[in-house]
Amino acid sequence: MIKLGSHIKFKSPNYLIDSIEESIENKANTMMIYLGPPQSTIRANISKYKLEEYKEKYKNIIKPEDIIVHAPYITNLANPEKKNFACEFLIKEIERMNYIGAKYLIIHPGSHTKFTRKDSIKTLIESLKYIFINTKNVEILIETMSGKGTEIGAKFEEIKYIIDKVNNSRLNVCLDTCHIWDYGYDVKNFKKLIKELKKTKIFSLIKVIHVNDSKNPIGSSKDRHENIGKGYIGLEPLKKIVNAQEFKNVIKILETPLVNKKPIYKKEIKLLSV
Ligand SMILES: [Zn+2]
Repeated sequence: MIKLGSHIKFKSPNYLIDSIEESIENKANTMMIYLGPPQSTIRANISKYKLEEYKEKYKNIIKPEDIIVHAPYITNLANPEKKNFACEFLIKEIERMNYIGAKYLIIHPGSHTKFTRKDSIKTLIESLKYIFINTKNVEILIETMSGKGTEIGAKFEEIKYIIDKVNNSRLNVCLDTCHIWDYGYDVKNFKKLIKELKKTKIFSLIKVIHVNDSKNPIGSSKDRHENIGKGYIGLEPLKKIVNAQEFKNVIKILETPLVNKKPIYKKEIKLLSV
């Protein structure tokens, strides 16, 4: 069965219980949460998560390993001046994930800002190695980026280079359909995309796909998500990716914009399911 879900709120007072119940209502069988606000590193104590209640009632509907965690945006493992803070924070984040039993942590590879791309990539590699030495079980997924500003990790070859250098089986990939489209990979051409993913040896590393349409044309380097079927990619190519045999073991997560201040994940999950 296809694993399809969405980003879902995780907050006081019911944490996991509200997240799971909303996901089930949307007919999702997986979900992605931030363990606190995406823009900050403030985190609630794990004792508030309602883990026991979740395990009693829902662990067979959405398994702990199918609860994806996204790291906050502000942690930049590739910045030599900020990497210490980012590493220590993410080690703690992984400990919180170990408590839940969650398996995948998605990170943005970072931006090189005032440093050279080469130095930043070196810093990112060192940061990842340090985190792996100091944590257990959780796999880190590098998200494919759109290449806006000084972002690293837009080109598949660059991600593969980083993964080869870290050389740890706990490092894999999260493919974002909007980001790769915005960078210049043709998501509408399924065969060509699979060929490119195989040629760059990214294909077998993909564990999660962020399924998003894009507000911009291919190659725009913008990173603005659009609702499914409302953007430049369109419904059919995204439906193809969600249901493809090639990605049958890959978890798919929607991160589409709110409509009238509300998520429409339930509708979009229905649209994408065959
Ligand atoms: Zn992301």
